Amino acid sequence: MMRRYVIIGSGAAGVAAAETIRTLDASGLIWIVTADPDGYYSRPGLAYYLTGEAAREQLYPLPNHYWKELGLRWHVDEVERVDPEGHRLVMKGGKDLPYDRLLLATGAKALLPDTPGINLEGVLKLDTLEDADRLLKLARRGQHAVVVGGGITALELAEGLAARGMHVHYFLRGDRFWSGVLDETESRMVERRLQHDGIFLHYNTNLVEVLGRGGRVSGVRAKTGDDACEMACSVVAVAIGIRPRKELAEQAGLLVGRGIRVNQCLQTSHPDIFAAGDAAEVLDPRSGEYVLDSLWNPAIEMGSAAGRGMAGRMTPYQKLVPVNVTRLGGLVTTIIGQVAAKRDALLVDLDLPGIMRGDSEVFRQHPDAVVAQSLHDGSRLRLYLSGGRLVGALIMGEQALSRPVQRLVRSGEDLGELVPQLVAPGARLDEKLWEFVKN
Ligand SMILES: Cc1cc2nc3c(=O)[nH]c(=O)nc-3n(C[C@H](O)[C@H](O)[C@H](O)COP(=O)(O)OP(=O)(O)OC[C@H]3O[C@@H](n4cnc5c(N)ncnc54)[C@H](O)[C@@H]3O)c2cc1C
Repeated sequence: MMRRYVIIGSGAAGVAAAETIRTLDASGLIWIVTADPDGYYSRPGLAYYLTGEAAREQLYPLPNHYWKELGLRWHVDEVERVDPEGHRLVMKGGKDLPYDRLLLATGAKALLPDTPGINLEGVLKLDTLEDADRLLKLARRGQHAVVVGGGITALELAEGLAARGMHVHYFLRGDRFWSGVLDETESRMVERRLQHDGIFLHYNTNLVEVLGRGGRVSGVRAKTGDDACEMACSVVAVAIGIRPRKELAEQAGLLVGRGIRVNQCLQTSHPDIFAAGDAAEVLDPRSGEYVLDSLWNPAIEMGSAAGRGMAGRMTPYQKLVPVNVTRLGGLVTTIIGQVAAKRDALLVDLDLPGIMRGDSEVFRQHPDAVVAQSLHDGSRLRLYLSGGRLVGALIMGEQALSRPVQRLVRSGEDLGELVPQLVAPGARLDEKLWEFVKN
């Protein structure tokens, strides 16, 4: 009998699972059911679409005929309910689909604050291509926009709106950018770049209310310390974090934590249902904790491992040290493993209380480690060393060391005599690391 596979979600995890299943089961029936009418595209690429550096077509890494060749069936609708015992799911449009193996690759969704006025037309978030299209439609040269939140997505929104000619006001609740991951030197490097690009930074500033006229955003009310102010604007863009989409798993009675809880083979508490990607919560072998990631590559790796299990080849998912290579205020930045900047023993980012896009909870595990750091020629290198090994690193600016350092963190290689050289006051970390990796 032909096995019936159903995958909910057309993102990185869902598509990787479908591709893997097909390599192991040439005749199985594979459905992708997705609520996203735009299908499979690069979500990290949305930032470049907003600034105009990438055209809409460039977000699609695969041609249309690829899906036909893979023998996939697509259905665009939102799944409302999963019945684990009946092995079927029910969609909003009323369609009912049976399965033998199911994958929940439902991703995560942006959180919005419960600020008055948050539902007005002109309040934006950035989850999907549809959100990016809406932003481009509303961005008006010469008008004012307010950006609220932290981390990579807030920057992408600010940079996108600025690139479209808007006057952008970026509200930070604290006194610096992304304090949960960057140290003060790095925050200031990013902030200077934003200011250079004409973005106005408002520190210690809270959004109190979004003001509207005729159902549309007309301004904001904000508070800086004890001072209240009103500012006219036509757009408010929000990036205060994301939450895994675990509602279907909850409704189906599966085990959930902050995400959908899975075992090493990405099986949920029901043996025929798997979960992968941003929606899943997996065990981090290094810390022994269940963690969430919102990273493109781990989503693909999880999707592939889940696909193998669904096709009957159970394979443990090897959770690697998380890495993100991204752009912060125009500075290419690689973040690897544990890099939380210790901040008066209080690791709280007021702009971003949880996880966001391009983030891993592992980044914010503060290691019991020695920090070595250097800043040369406008480039920053920060290393965390524990037990003679590198457990995390942040490289901002010049990226020649990005790959060798990723390799050192991932392999856990003993650095031996290099350690005292790296932690010596005033050490040129880049030169020492180069000598080490070349030998
Ligand atoms: C703006 C932005 C910037 C990013 N930047 C980076 C970066 O710099 N580096 C990096 O590594 N990662 C980045 N990411 C994160 C990365 O894109 C995600 O980690 C990855 O896309 C997760 O893939 P996924 O398949 O788990 O979920 P998603 O890609 O979110 O896909 C989830 C799918 O599930 C569908 N779905 C959900 N619920 C239902 C339902 N009930 N019924 C039907 N379908 C449903 C959705 O429609 C969607 O198709 C970024 C993401 C965004 C949005």
